[in-house]
Amino acid sequence: MNSEINLKNHICEIGKKLYDKGFVAANDGNISIRLHDHEFLITPTGVSKGSMTPEMIIKIDENGTVLEGNYKPSSEMKMHFAVYENRHDVQACVHVHPPFSTAFAIAGIPLDQAIMPESVVFLGTIPVAEYGTPSTNEIPNAVKRYVQNHQGVLLENHGALTWGKDLDHAYYLMESLEFTAKINWIAKQLNGDRELSQKHVETLVRMKTQMGIKGESPKGVITPEGIHAQKFSPSANRSLSEEDLDLIAEKVTKNLLGELRKLF
Ligand SMILES: [Zn+2]
Repeated sequence: MNSEINLKNHICEIGKKLYDKGFVAANDGNISIRLHDHEFLITPTGVSKGSMTPEMIIKIDENGTVLEGNYKPSSEMKMHFAVYENRHDVQACVHVHPPFSTAFAIAGIPLDQAIMPESVVFLGTIPVAEYGTPSTNEIPNAVKRYVQNHQGVLLENHGALTWGKDLDHAYYLMESLEFTAKINWIAKQLNGDRELSQKHVETLVRMKTQMGIKGESPKGVITPEGIHAQKFSPSANRSLSEEDLDLIAEKVTKNLLGELRKLF
């Protein structure tokens, strides 16, 4: 069993990783761990998460009352409580503002495409929780809607939140979330954010179930031959309208007639 000092040290280590990765700027972000239903460890407000020391980590109860520590707990603790109250298997939460994930949150685009096996199996779909003013009940209320069926959310025009069975799990989900958002963004620049077929996704979801991983997965694309039916070209994602097809048919016919005239 982890002692409280070990857990506080671990929060500091994860805070440094998040800061070093550029997932937060200045004093942004917050991390929490559930000790039991009435006691939680949480990061302080107004302190860089990259340079925390264990004595800065605060112990609070389920109402946010400080039980131990000299710092002020994060004002976003209500968002963490919303997760703990609704998921008894969750022991840790990570909230940061990673650039690619936050850009998707600003654009209001959920990460729900089946673009890579890893994201289908380990991350699942990441919805956008409706915007709320930080520190009010608006964000917790929005997050609650998605807690049961997901492992994290994008917070509209704000950032991202993940939750897990322990702090490492919540942290790695955040890494995966940002990585998926980054890859998705790059693929979109190539006009090539092609999705796995529904058949391939079904196989991955069976693996996911065997591994005991919870959460909703993307559905995949319904194509008879799967992803290989989609040609790798910048126009792979574009479908042709009836007008386009008529125009092509017209051009082909004209060319063919031209060739035939040369022959006869
Ligand atoms: Zn925030």
